[in-house]
Parts: sequence; C-alpha cells; structure tokens
Amino acid sequence: MSSQVYFIDFRASVQNNFIFKLTQLLKKTGLTRVIRKRDLVAVKLHFGEMGNTAFIRPVYLRPIISEIKKTGAIPFITDANTLYAGTRANAPEHLTTAIQNGFAYAVVEAPLVIADGLRGKSESSVPVNGKHFENAYISKEIVEADALISVAHFKGHELSGFGGTIKNLGMGCACRKGKLAMHSTVSPQIDAENCIGCGECTEHCSVHALSLKDELAVIDEDRCIGCGECILICPNKAVQIKWDQNVPAFLEGMVEYTAGVLKNKQGRSLFVNFINSVSPACDCHPANDAPIVKDIGVVASLDPVALDQASADLVNAEPGLDNTILTKNKEPGADKFKGLYPHVDWPIQLAYAEKLGLGKRQYELIKL
Ligand code: SF4
Ligand code: SF4
Repeated sequence: MSSQVYFIDFRASVQNNFIFKLTQLLKKTGLTRVIRKRDLVAVKLHFGEMGNTAFIRPVYLRPIISEIKKTGAIPFITDANTLYAGTRANAPEHLTTAIQNGFAYAVVEAPLVIADGLRGKSESSVPVNGKHFENAYISKEIVEADALISVAHFKGHELSGFGGTIKNLGMGCACRKGKLAMHSTVSPQIDAENCIGCGECTEHCSVHALSLKDELAVIDEDRCIGCGECILICPNKAVQIKWDQNVPAFLEGMVEYTAGVLKNKQGRSLFVNFINSVSPACDCHPANDAPIVKDIGVVASLDPVALDQASADLVNAEPGLDNTILTKNKEPGADKFKGLYPHVDWPIQLAYAEKLGLGKRQYELIKL
C-alpha cells in the first residue's frame, strides 16, 4: 500500500488565495490527528543563514501556527544551532538572524525557541541501534515537545543531493555533538593537480582548517568538521571527498538520526515541504544561487519518506530553468540533483529510511 501525499500549487484567486489553500492542505493531511489540546508543538524549520533569501517565507508560517492554535495546542518555532561558525552557531546570534530574516513574533505569531540551547549542548541521547550509530544526540527541546510539525524548504544539497524533510529532521534536529558525529564521515582532500592556490577556501572555512602551503591548499584534519563548505566554494573542483564511501555513510547516518527524532513522535508528527525557490544548495549558505526549476507548490504527508520521494519526483519532472548553475539533466524527467551533484547517490537516504520503517517510497499524490 502506498502513502498519501497532498499537494497544492501556487495558483490562487481572491476567493482561494494561497493562505487558504495552505490551511486546507494541513487539514486534509490530518493536523488535528497528530496534535492534542495543551500539547507543546515544535514547528521545526530552517531560519536561513544571513545573506540567504531562499528559505521559507515567514508569512507562510502564520497560517500553520494559526491552525495549530485552533486545536488548543501551544506551538513554538524552532531550529538547532549550526556546527560551523556563521550567523546561527549559538542561540543569541541564531535568534537575531531568525528575526532579521523575518521570523518575528509580529509575523509568525509564535515564540522562537533554539532547540539545543545557548551553545548547542542541550541534548538528549536517544537509542537508535543503527548500522552507524547506537545513540542519536538530539536537541532536547525537540525530544521534549509533545508533537512535531516539520516545515522544510526543498532544494538541492551538496552532500545529500537534495535537502527536504529527512534532512530537516536528521541533521536539523541534531545537537552540535550529533551534527559532528554525522559529518565525521566526510573528510575532504585537496586534489593538487586542480588546486591553483587561489585561497578562496581558506577564507571561507569557519574553523580555520584550511591554509595555503607552497601555493597549495592544505587541510588540518584535526580541525576539519566535515561541513563540506569548501567543496562548494572551490572554483576549480580541487576539493574532493570519497563520494562512493563517505556519502552513503553520511546519508545513512542522517536517516538514523531521523529515526531518533521520530522515536517518541509516532502518530504525533506531520511533514510539509515547500517546493519553491529551489536553490541548488542548502539554506545554510550565506547566498543562494538562482532556482533550478520553477516554483512548484507545497506537499504535506504523515509519511516523511513518501513526502521527500514525491518532492524529488516533482522537481525532476520539471524542465530545468535557463541561466542557472544546472547545465546537465535539464530536460523534463531527468534527475536534476544528479545534474547538480553527479557523485551523490541521493536515493540512498530514501531507500535506507524505508528499510528502517520510517515510511514508504511508494505514494499517491493527491492534488487539492
Ligand atoms: S569541510 Fe572544508 S570548509 Fe568544512 S571544516 Fe573541513 S576544511 Fe573547513
Ligand atoms: S579554493 Fe580550490 S583552488 Fe583555491 S586554494 Fe582552495 S582548493 Fe585550491
């Protein structure tokens, strides 16, 4: 049997505007089935790094918050601190970035809570007994919440092919220790033949793990946190990782963390993917390149695996837009994520999530 995935597009009229359509989407998907009166409900999203503008528009959150409040529950909007320096590495800077990006109470009508505390150390250890991890270190406020609504921006991602619900949960809900554990499989190396010694990577590594020696980049492995930023930044593709070994382990580890996040949320979680401003890379970057396909719509489901599979299929069904970084696989039906990141075998995350019983890849797309 397949899972149900509900879909709305961006067509709208005065009688049926996007906010109304979003409300209908939540109702149809079963919001009232997963939330009870007086529940503390974590609405997990990505506030966007300062400089990025592709993250979910804050005004889209208000109807979601409003529907949660109608059930008598108490929503809060949350994300966990980042591993790298940036503008979201601790709670004060993270909250400042969120508010400056538009997630102010006046807009979203819910308080913001940083899920893993002041410095990313507020955590709960959740047993997952997986192939890669015995325990997942999850942000405490996510574990403590009674119910979870994941609201993810669906886009490309340099390490996972795409970033959707599984990434929003597995990586996005992990505390600092958990993020470090997942990234530990990613250890980049410099291809000396391609490195031109330009120094771009050294300026952008947030933990100062990169330096130049004899006009070649050198990585200090003890400092490197495996964030993958330098892979994107290098203009000459001189930063390489062992794609066939490191990436599958990274993806599977992220899925095990997703299992940890959902462990005490069975029947108490709902998942939403916004498929618009489909930028080629993560909202963690302080910039977003042009979207690779047109704005498609919003999908929601009680099954996170079906939701990400449907989102990937919807993106891949579209023709790639001109004048973007996507130059391969632009035709409708071609794999846009492979076009962006040919070495990343992104279906691994969905196959492993299905194997762990987090959901099904087979789905029925119900257009509202
Ligand atoms: S992956 Fe690259 S950018 Fe990230 S910490 Fe390691 S060397 Fe620095
Ligand atoms: S950005 Fe790339 S080419 Fe430039 S120094 Fe770093 S590794 Fe070498």
